[in-house]
Amino acid sequence: MIQFEGVHKTYKVSGREVTALETCNLHIPQGQIFGLIGHSGAGKSTLLRLINRLEEPSGGRILVADEDVTALNAKDLRRFRQGLGMIFQHFNLLASKTVADNVAMPLKLAGEHSTAQIRERVAMLLDRVGLSDHALKYPAQLSGGQKQRVGIARALATEPKILLCDEATSALDPQTTAQVLQLLNELNRELNLTIVLITHEMDVIRRVCDQVAVMDAGLIVEQGQVADVFLHP
Ligand code: ADP
Ligand code: ADP
Repeated sequence: MIQFEGVHKTYKVSGREVTALETCNLHIPQGQIFGLIGHSGAGKSTLLRLINRLEEPSGGRILVADEDVTALNAKDLRRFRQGLGMIFQHFNLLASKTVADNVAMPLKLAGEHSTAQIRERVAMLLDRVGLSDHALKYPAQLSGGQKQRVGIARALATEPKILLCDEATSALDPQTTAQVLQLLNELNRELNLTIVLITHEMDVIRRVCDQVAVMDAGLIVEQGQVADVFLHP
């Protein structure tokens, strides 16, 4: 589903090259929950953002569903991004918009749906994440867990096949974290959704991931089934 072939990434910081990702080969199978774990600065975010081309690779090829992401033009990139959802540590909701309007946003931007279709899809998504009664509230009126569920509904609006999660539970308390992870688990199964999640918490990996890659200083230092990589608790 997602394939990195000799991908590396350097940033230029005040004229100096900083390597964020050393040459990386990676395969993430369809329908998996794939975890990336590592300390701050390990390169997790860079790797995740290369998948939806929020970052450009400095070299190598990235294939998503057999499509070379690195070769997409602007128009194809827009279409490609509709097939990927993303959620964030701090939710990134629009404060001035209602819950329903936040979820409707990607559908409006896609410009392919009538108002009636959008309304129906938003209602369905809010129902799925348990927020039907909160459609007309604003993000500030919601708890952290509710905000992340809005983020998930918004991320799924365009029916993506892949969900990218950037420290999606790091701002949540343990109980809320468990609920959000449970929801991700269900969506993975119901929609055959491929999920790539980054975290610095081992427990998150243990709870939901099928496979894990451990990153350190821009390198994947270990990779495999969670049960094999974290054999000893
Ligand atoms: P992680 O997500 O594991 O914390 P990142 O991918 O954010 O790691 O960062 C990896 C390395 O790349 C770090 O050294 C970081 O400082 C650097 N880096 C990340 N983004 C940028 C950027 N936009 N410009 C310059 N350096 C960056
Ligand atoms: P606009 O802001 O374009 O005038 P509306 O006020 O009807 O349109 O709603 C904004 C968007 O959110 C629309 O796409 C609409 O379908 C959707 N929406 C608004 N309220 C709800 C709700 N209670 N349940 C589901 N979808 C809603």
